[in-house]
Amino acid sequence: MKITIYSPDVYTYGAMLIGGILKHEKHDVKLVKKIDKTLFLKSDVIIFSLYSTLHILNENIKRTITFIKKSRKNRTKIYIAGCVSAYPEIILNELNVDGVIVGEGEITTPRIVKGDKEGLAYREGDEIVINLSKEKPELDHPIPLIPKDIGQQSVRGANVYIETHRGCLGNCTFCQVPKFFGKNIRSRDVEDVVEEVKAFKRAGAKRIAISGGTGSLYAFKKSVNRNKFFELLENVSKIVGKNNLSVPDMRVDYVDEDILTAIKNYTIGWVFYGIESGSDKILRDMKKGTNREKNLDAIKLAKDCEVKVAGSFIVAYPTETEMDYLLTKDFIVDAELDDVFVSIAEPIPTTELCDLVLSMPKEENLLYKIHEGAYKKLGLSEAEARCFDLLIHAEMWKSMPRPLTPQLYNLYLNEAKMQGKDIRDIIELLFKYKDLLLK
Ligand code: SF4
Repeated sequence: MKITIYSPDVYTYGAMLIGGILKHEKHDVKLVKKIDKTLFLKSDVIIFSLYSTLHILNENIKRTITFIKKSRKNRTKIYIAGCVSAYPEIILNELNVDGVIVGEGEITTPRIVKGDKEGLAYREGDEIVINLSKEKPELDHPIPLIPKDIGQQSVRGANVYIETHRGCLGNCTFCQVPKFFGKNIRSRDVEDVVEEVKAFKRAGAKRIAISGGTGSLYAFKKSVNRNKFFELLENVSKIVGKNNLSVPDMRVDYVDEDILTAIKNYTIGWVFYGIESGSDKILRDMKKGTNREKNLDAIKLAKDCEVKVAGSFIVAYPTETEMDYLLTKDFIVDAELDDVFVSIAEPIPTTELCDLVLSMPKEENLLYKIHEGAYKKLGLSEAEARCFDLLIHAEMWKSMPRPLTPQLYNLYLNEAKMQGKDIRDIIELLFKYKDLLLK
């Protein structure tokens, strides 16, 4: 069977993984990150592997699906997969596809392309049938389908993020991971990860990141399994070299001196903490399970271990007051981070944040409130103004501040505006399906 997997702009690990499984089953599989209508028209099956709600709204994707369906009728089946599959009803209402491969697709996708319906959501007349899979994959899959140009890809500086484990113990209200992958941590064998890293290296990948939500939860059973985590880092580092390995994503409550020392010894020596806010009240609202003090302690510990620290922050959470926001600015001054990322709170369908956004009047959402403060002339919403302001503020309080040039100013302004527009578009879509999402 000729199968094409389309993963917009980036070869995601999930798309490569499913590609590898289908190839192992002797299908003729192509993986592309740009729309290729000629290839699509020759395919028996096209899987759109989508990882952002914005993809559902993307006009180019919509038009392409309509074009293929019109030209090929039922000779080409089109399925949607990826994290957007957590909300199949929205997809089946918005896109004219044959079905949505719901959740983790390793077991179900090879069966679905042959006509099976387990793990598939689809239309039957006016009804939408959601046929959830009964099994969860073990993560002992064949080597992914690695594209020839993988060495040219950059995702936060790495050619690829290799998955080492799945699931998260956290409850963060804005995050889809625990619901999508579950709260039990499933981990791959060190040997399997090592073989895969070698395969990526042979295919031209140089810089590898390993991930699974929180790096140090690798091999977690009832507690953190430090030795397995160290074994993993040591083995992967031997293959790619410490300057080409990163294990960026860490929770502040799952690091200690030993873990950070291993990060320093075996990787490029950076951690990336999800700090989110400087306000303890907002951290409680987000169910982050951390607080200002724990965050500052973990940053200090990393610095003491000579590990660089980046922090990501979320602004304009629905309950964030002006005072909460000022506490975040204050935190950034105290933390003196090496790098900072700022996002406006994005409600992903099925998360608690999504329910919260839908249960309040749209006009009260900071993305719809006009900013009346210092940036009034720029015509921003309050959420965009906070995002822009925090990006500039963080630049001044990083360990290595950069002068705020007109270029940097415009870069941050455009970033804040783009985030604001994108998330407003998502919110409009969510309100269209409010009853469905809140049921
Ligand atoms: S944000 Fe991180 S810690 Fe929180 S639930 Fe998601 S993956 Fe887990």
